[in-house]
Amino acid sequence: KRRNPHQPEFVQAVQEVAEDIFDFIRDKADYHDQQILRRIAEPDRIVSFRVCWEDDRGNVRVQRGWRVQNNNAIGPYKGGIRFHPSVNESVLKFLAFEQTFKNALTGLPMGGGKGGANFNPKGKSVREIMRFCQSFMTELYRHIGADVDVPAGDIGVGAREIGFMFGQYKRITNHFTGVLTGKGLEYGGSLIRPEATGYGAVYFLAEMLAVKGQDLTGKTAVISGSGNVATHAAEKLVQQGARVVTLSDSAGFVHDPAGLTQEKIDWVKAHKTHRRGRIEEYVEAFPGATFHSGQTPWGVPCDVALPCATQNELSGDDAKALVANGCIAVAEGANMPTDLAGVHVFKSARTLFAPGKAANAGGVAVSGLEMSQNSERRSWKEAELQQMLKDIMAGIHQRCVAYGEGEGGYIDYVKGANVAGFKKVGDAMLAFGVV
Ligand code: NDP
Repeated sequence: KRRNPHQPEFVQAVQEVAEDIFDFIRDKADYHDQQILRRIAEPDRIVSFRVCWEDDRGNVRVQRGWRVQNNNAIGPYKGGIRFHPSVNESVLKFLAFEQTFKNALTGLPMGGGKGGANFNPKGKSVREIMRFCQSFMTELYRHIGADVDVPAGDIGVGAREIGFMFGQYKRITNHFTGVLTGKGLEYGGSLIRPEATGYGAVYFLAEMLAVKGQDLTGKTAVISGSGNVATHAAEKLVQQGARVVTLSDSAGFVHDPAGLTQEKIDWVKAHKTHRRGRIEEYVEAFPGATFHSGQTPWGVPCDVALPCATQNELSGDDAKALVANGCIAVAEGANMPTDLAGVHVFKSARTLFAPGKAANAGGVAVSGLEMSQNSERRSWKEAELQQMLKDIMAGIHQRCVAYGEGEGGYIDYVKGANVAGFKKVGDAMLAFGVV
């Protein structure tokens, strides 16, 4: 706290990881002597810069942009760019720190970084967004590169913004390289990137159940959110024979006791993305379902739950309700959807609980595969990528189990993910000596 005053998000993230790591490094002198945890918690560098752009009325506007390059011990810095008014240095440091562990867990050679700007894309015209992206890249380009730092999208930065930024990078440098991921298929993007996070979370869930000798067939699943992660998680669950009974958005949740089908999921995808509709309208399209205004779906009885909407959407009381209703496994599709009280409830009830760091790493993993394809100047087929994603999620699960086994055989996936990620990055840093 003394080293990072006024950075509550960052301090909280480091504290949470540190608690798990202290246990692991207690009897390992090297990590202490070399101050490995302290070094991972101090970004390699933070670049902060002015982003100046002109709005449609001709006003000159000034925003602040950042790139936090947290750690490149095991590969080029990698992590998303976020455009949102809430972006500040503390938030980006917290995200870059977490990304370092998530990327290490995938088994791919990617370091950790994160960037963004306090720019609000809401209500801006496409031309304004384009000019902002170009101005942002006009400074960022000198700090990134296919072997240096490879940003991706995040909140407020989708395929369109990646296109604007990639175009500007290419224009300035005259280099066509895989410097960004999340690109369009026409210019170096990868198949299954949109599906990867949701599908990956379900693969991870299946791995957790398999340890208990169970599978997803016939299981009732509750999902929050109705965006990219939620709809693709639903799709994979249905393919695996589960009955998905809820989806939600910021206005409330729908309960469909008959269960979602591919046809219903396709309707939701089109409704939310192309028509920008509300999930409430689902009940008109599919009678038999009910809408619950202003509520989250955690009170609906289920076997498995996947929070896939947003941070802190599942509280301690929600976790208690899930446990009381017989939920045996939770996989986080979103980043930090379960608050600390909720995590403690799941741990003490010995519920299988996969943190986002492990369960939603499928997205960045396929971004890593996009980097490989760009380096090779080729595109892999969908079936190859599906298999690779499945193998990567099984690998992450294995690493969590190896370092998360606790009392009475209970696997603490949070601890397992933290320790496995730390060990990989830390061991590389030990090899480099004091630098
Ligand atoms: P989308 O924007 O596609 O979807 C977000 C969904 O969450 C929408 O249904 C949205 O509803 C809902 N939502 C937003 N805020 C709230 C709220 N306060 N209460 C209830 N529901 C809310 O995002 P993604 O699906 O891509 O991302 C979801 C989460 O997964 C985020 O935490 C993201 O950081 C994380 N993630 C995503 C990855 C990816 O590859 N996409 C990778 C790793 C993590 P509404 O329409 O009302 O806003």
